[in-house]
Amino acid sequence: MISPTFDFEVQKLKKEIRKRKAKRVLIQLPEGLKPYGWQLAKVIEELGAVAIVSADHCYGACDLPLAEAESLGADLIVHCGHSQMVQQNAVPTIYIETKAKAHIKNVVWKAVPYLEQWREIGLVTTIQHIEKLREAEQVLLEAGKVVAIGDAGQMQYPGQITGCNYSNARTVSDKVSAFLYVGGGKFHPIGVTLATRKPTIVADPFQKRAFKIQDEATRIIKKRWANIQQFKQAKRIGILIGLKPGQKKYTQALELRDLLSKAGRQTMLLALREITPEVVMQFPGVEAFINTACPRITLDDSERFLKPIITPLESLVAIGQLRWGELWAKGWFED
Ligand code: SF4
Repeated sequence: MISPTFDFEVQKLKKEIRKRKAKRVLIQLPEGLKPYGWQLAKVIEELGAVAIVSADHCYGACDLPLAEAESLGADLIVHCGHSQMVQQNAVPTIYIETKAKAHIKNVVWKAVPYLEQWREIGLVTTIQHIEKLREAEQVLLEAGKVVAIGDAGQMQYPGQITGCNYSNARTVSDKVSAFLYVGGGKFHPIGVTLATRKPTIVADPFQKRAFKIQDEATRIIKKRWANIQQFKQAKRIGILIGLKPGQKKYTQALELRDLLSKAGRQTMLLALREITPEVVMQFPGVEAFINTACPRITLDDSERFLKPIITPLESLVAIGQLRWGELWAKGWFED
């Protein structure tokens, strides 16, 4: 067993590696799962293949190490922690979704008092707890709630959300008064509130506690408004193009360049893998940025950038092509 907390599907992995006769395997894990890289590499090496663990950051399934695999001559990528997002034929890839073994019933019961004022509840989770979603639904039904689990057809599973895709929440948003998010951390439930404008309660099976997320979401919405107002003053705009396979939006960047040019702004296209304040501050002549890559960098880290950084849709608000209130209906930061 690799981990008592997450299921690395070792038997499936071994079977696939044998079937594909893989000789050189590049393993990719998000930060929270990197400590298991050692054990995973040993499982693969026991099958006679060379195992290489990617030590670079990995934030999502968008970040598949295709160029790295080709550079290393790897004939297989094993990507852990997410379901498939990028469609590609360049390097064969196995996705180990690493479902969490944590029990969720007790923590969902803890969330029930927070949901007291609402009857219709939307239920969402990440890939780690997707198999337990029906257990959460059962608890809510026993508590007298009406439950909606959305399936917009964009994700692998009904009710599943990622950091940049809340389509399964938005598709049931009109039918519910609030959402219950089952999973760890604040990143995803804040996204649910931003994407739907509905209150969201968190049931965190890792911390074994339930809590509200509204204050953090309101703080981020105020920051977004401030960033857009600052962006309006800027004349020289950097348009960021992410180079990670699932984040590259070259065509969108060109469209934005044309729109901004018509709105009287000067622009520069900037391509980069890691969007950090240190990298973009190398261009002091640029007064503000539009980030066409991972939207969560814009939403969660904007304070660190010292200059306004906004999403493509927010830039339309800044140049008067979209109203602030329309951001929610458009998904705000989704594709
Ligand atoms: S683009 Fe950002 S939010 Fe979306 S999967 Fe990648 S890292 Fe996560």
